[in-house]
Amino acid sequence: MPDPDPTTTRTHGLTSTEVSTLASKAVAAKELAYCPYSNFRVGCALLCEDGEYVLGANIENASYPVTICAERTAFSKAIVEGRKKFRAVGVSTDISPPASPCGMCRQFIREFCDLNTPIFMWDKDGQYLVMTLEQLLPMSFGPEQLHKPDPKGSN
Ligand SMILES: [Zn+2]
Repeated sequence: MPDPDPTTTRTHGLTSTEVSTLASKAVAAKELAYCPYSNFRVGCALLCEDGEYVLGANIENASYPVTICAERTAFSKAIVEGRKKFRAVGVSTDISPPASPCGMCRQFIREFCDLNTPIFMWDKDGQYLVMTLEQLLPMSFGPEQLHKPDPKGSN
């Protein structure tokens, strides 16, 4: 896997070690995919505010629309583990150029991440693109547009 570009990592407030770790975790997460119908493996790794990494993978279903993407799997796992703040998102697939999170996942990520959160997308060869959430989901609708949620429900 190529080393991350130091300028890119600095721009996003991450160390090169954090980006390298995010890469290896996102790639490893592909092994967790359950995708017997598409054979399209997606791995996701989240770098949480507490420094922990949470993994997710796509989980398909014989009733196709029931399928859940790697990103939503990872965020759901993190949320129920009590982690609600994130510094970076990493996604890995077996194609090139790299795949980006689908529209539904972009909105799901929007609920839990600042607009400047970097989303790294690794291709099959370990090359990556990185974009902020705002670049992937411009003029987005988020929690601040609604009344503040009941603290009992949000924490
Ligand atoms: Zn998705």
